[in-house]
Amino acid sequence: ASAWSQVKAGPPDAILGVTEAFKADKSPVKINLGVGAYRDAEGKPYVLPSVRTVDEQIVQAKNDKEYLPITGFPEFTKQAAILAYGKDSKPLQDGRIAITQSISGTGALRIAGAFLERHYPHSKAIYLPSPTWGNHIPIFKDSGLEVKTYSYYDKNTVGLDFEGLKKDMEAAPPKSVFLLHACAHNPTGIDPTKEQWKEISQIMKEKEHFPLFDSAYQGFATGSVDADAFAPRHFVEQGHQIALCQSFAKNMGLYGERIGAFSVVCESAEEKARVDSQIKILVRPLYSNPPVHGARIAGTILSDPALYEQWLKEVKGMADRIITMRTTLYDLLNELGSKKEWGHIKSQIGMFCYTGLTADQVAKLASEHHVYLTKDGRISVAGVTPGNVRHLAESIHAVTK
Ligand code: PLP
Repeated sequence: ASAWSQVKAGPPDAILGVTEAFKADKSPVKINLGVGAYRDAEGKPYVLPSVRTVDEQIVQAKNDKEYLPITGFPEFTKQAAILAYGKDSKPLQDGRIAITQSISGTGALRIAGAFLERHYPHSKAIYLPSPTWGNHIPIFKDSGLEVKTYSYYDKNTVGLDFEGLKKDMEAAPPKSVFLLHACAHNPTGIDPTKEQWKEISQIMKEKEHFPLFDSAYQGFATGSVDADAFAPRHFVEQGHQIALCQSFAKNMGLYGERIGAFSVVCESAEEKARVDSQIKILVRPLYSNPPVHGARIAGTILSDPALYEQWLKEVKGMADRIITMRTTLYDLLNELGSKKEWGHIKSQIGMFCYTGLTADQVAKLASEHHVYLTKDGRISVAGVTPGNVRHLAESIHAVTK
């Protein structure tokens, strides 16, 4: 018998399953709102002009294709840290932030999990918000951590369950690890307010909890890279030694380039050197060293003042298109006479809208209206365009009457 004859077929990926169903649908009005990738106003994938420019520069430069160091392209990681922490960040100025290039945000989270599993001296459990990005759970389980959850979403208000969140943080054993979405919480699109972040920071300080931030949408939420970095920067100012996972998939549209970073705020430059050495020891047997092309692109955009300014405008352009589509969808639902309260479509932030639609309504949207989204009722607003928003509004209205 084959060595694999006893291997059981696993379940298909929930989001890729939506894409499969979408592809099989022959209707000209079909809409795919499952996948979390930005689309332009025509519904097409979008390569940022700043990225195109650097791509061309890189081809012309005829660089060699030598290996990068284990922790990646230094010009990239230096700039990635400035983007996340801000150029005036105290630990950055003190030279006590350990940072490594990673295989996008997923790879950063996986290194974070492995680093915590090996070196965090307290409980090897991690608390994730409920709900959270689906991949968080297997990432941390596969890293060898025990996965627990904390309250986040209140389905009655389609808002943040702040009381539940605080209660769960208070109830967790001291020095527990908590994963926090830096901005544009996926899948709900619901973020704590600044005041709520301050309270969360305070509670976590009192309980000596460890904050691990997942920053996959910096700039993409509000259109401002600084506004979207409020939470991790505030925590650092308050003296938390955070760890942070960054992705450049969304904010630079570099999905397939797999470019991200994992960083740890240390107590001293001497501690940083020790942490760096252990990150290298983790990365070497995983993938040895990261790919170079995305690091050259992101590193160049972040370090060239003119390209950086251009990129900031392009990120804001993407964020603004999404915000405009939220308003249009909300207005159309009202115009069509929907009696439901849809304010959360506008108040939620980032790429996703957690509509509050039930699994039955989602199934009807697909079977009767050719509109595809994940079972949890999450819409990728990045897939909504001036051309399809009316069909979407009419379909949502039809299934929620
Ligand atoms: N974290 C969150 C919350 C995400 O939504 C995503 C992507 O959808 C990621 C991390 C990582 O994505 P990538 O590995 O493509 O950077």
